[in-house]
Amino acid sequence: MAERLDKPIGLTAKPTRSQEFYDNVKRKFAEERDLRLKYRPQGLSQYTYDLTGALAKYEVDTYAEAVTPREPINDTVECLFIGGGFSALLTSARLREVGVESIRIVERGGDVGGTWYWNRYPGVACDVVSYDYLPLLDELDYVPKDHYAGGPEIFAHCQAIAKKYNLYELATFQTTVTSTVWDEAEQMWHVATDRGDHMRARFVICANGILTKPKLAKIKGLETFKGHSFHTSRWDYAYTKPDLSGLEDKVVGIIGTGATAVQAVPGLGAAAKELYVFQRTPSSIDIRDDWPTDPNWARKLEPGWQARRRERARMEPRMTEEQKARHAATSPEEKIRRQENANIEAMMKIHQRIDQIVKDKATAEALKPWYMLMCKRPCFHNDYLPTFNRPNVHLIDTHGKGINEITEKGPVFEGKQYEVDVLIYATGFEVQRTGTYNQIKGVNGLDINDKYREGVRTLLGIQSQGYPNLFVMGGLQASFQFNFTDIAEAQGNYIAACIDYVRRHGYQSLDVTPQAEEWWVQEVIEHRGKTSFNQECTPGYYNFEGEFQRRQDGNYNGGFFQYCNHLNEVRARMDAHFAFTNKPLTSE
Ligand code: NDP
Repeated sequence: MAERLDKPIGLTAKPTRSQEFYDNVKRKFAEERDLRLKYRPQGLSQYTYDLTGALAKYEVDTYAEAVTPREPINDTVECLFIGGGFSALLTSARLREVGVESIRIVERGGDVGGTWYWNRYPGVACDVVSYDYLPLLDELDYVPKDHYAGGPEIFAHCQAIAKKYNLYELATFQTTVTSTVWDEAEQMWHVATDRGDHMRARFVICANGILTKPKLAKIKGLETFKGHSFHTSRWDYAYTKPDLSGLEDKVVGIIGTGATAVQAVPGLGAAAKELYVFQRTPSSIDIRDDWPTDPNWARKLEPGWQARRRERARMEPRMTEEQKARHAATSPEEKIRRQENANIEAMMKIHQRIDQIVKDKATAEALKPWYMLMCKRPCFHNDYLPTFNRPNVHLIDTHGKGINEITEKGPVFEGKQYEVDVLIYATGFEVQRTGTYNQIKGVNGLDINDKYREGVRTLLGIQSQGYPNLFVMGGLQASFQFNFTDIAEAQGNYIAACIDYVRRHGYQSLDVTPQAEEWWVQEVIEHRGKTSFNQECTPGYYNFEGEFQRRQDGNYNGGFFQYCNHLNEVRARMDAHFAFTNKPLTSE
């Protein structure tokens, strides 16, 4: 275990050096970014998302029993969720509260849990404080065991939610939706699956997460490797053994050093005969201050404690009158400069920590990230950096180039062959294609991808005109939060309110008006151009690998507080934002 060196660095480091220093660091950041963009001008298409044919094995569910044949399902439900992770679980809970009985989760995996079903690699845990991350703690009367929760506890919590809200009854697992088609005459969605099902649903909620589909780098010769290999989200415990003792006599290679690898590497380093870590860009590694939940604190929690905690997190930061005056008197350029300097200072502390921990100087240098804080997912771990002091662990730094060739023996870099028994791909996931890869056809049979060809168009990133009764969670044009369940909860509450409104008024469906959609697209555009932060960042999935996006194709950048205000505004004036079919049977 690493010693605790300091408090987490966070975003509040104070700039204390000359502006020349910060400008020089920014220049180095730009050089490092340009190097990577030069190596990979192809952006997102450097990866393959089509895991079929020779690559199909990388997507096989290693956690479930083999799929057993079943009769196709041919029925009608009121609400159908595509995906069974936190988005679906949270929203289902809210729907139950407003009296919706007929809820079906259709899930590719063998259980609920989403990310926490798939990601079971050794060391898997969440970096967001557990009391904020795990949803529905009030409702389940549960207090997490530690300040940060591990993967198994989170997965168990998902199952507990599904049990409490009786979501297993209608759920279909090991089932992938293949098409979702709106029938205007019936005012129903027709949902087809790879199991031959033909389900009908009044409401469809695409809750398939933001990082769902594993991706692989397009590396020459990848499929020729003769050893064992798998993706981190399909961990092969039959090969490694649950305690990783299966690796004792194995040479292991891991490609990628993102948040997943940072958690997996310490366990691999301790277990493997030899471990090669193939790095393209280092992650920033801060301290992970964890502790067991204090039972006295837990005992004193009053009912509704988590809801109040979330409410506080959603509140706009309060400023004194003096702070407000100072803020108003500072130019936008000066504000950006100060924030950048503070971020650089934080990154320098990350560098300092590496120098303090990693003994080999060349390795320490190679582990230093040269980009602005938050350009990539910041990581927190106490054992990752010390792992590189182990004699059996070798960092193969490719300085931005990456591994571009694999032979039957293993990866090759700059002419050197690295022979490995097993190769683990920690190369991440397809990002935010949520809801758009299941072939969704709305009014007049228009495929949502065709509608979006000229630019994404939504209301609040959740609904799109021409797709009545369809909701997308965690999609483009929505706010993006470090704590994913904050956004899932805000969207889930909103979706349940929309469905409740339709039901209470005896309508069949609601569809966004063109004016409401246009309003939101313009809101997104207005807030996107405020800073050039994304373009200046080193490529990664946060900025779509440096691809220059249309201004409306990313997230809403007006802030989570403002996003929640907009959700509430729309909820308060449904009639101004939606067209409804059928006259109301009841009036309020
Ligand atoms: P990422 O997309 O973050 O990382 C992929 C890694 O693969 C990068 O380091 C990338 O390098 C590297 N890579 C890709 N191609 C090559 C190549 N040819 N040669 C060498 N390296 C290559 O995926 P992760 O699964 O790590 O994380 C995804 C997200 O999941 C996180 O950002 C986070 O949101 C979430 N997560 C959260 C955790 C937490 O709470 N702690 C833990 C795990 C995941 P480059 O950087 O140069 O692109």
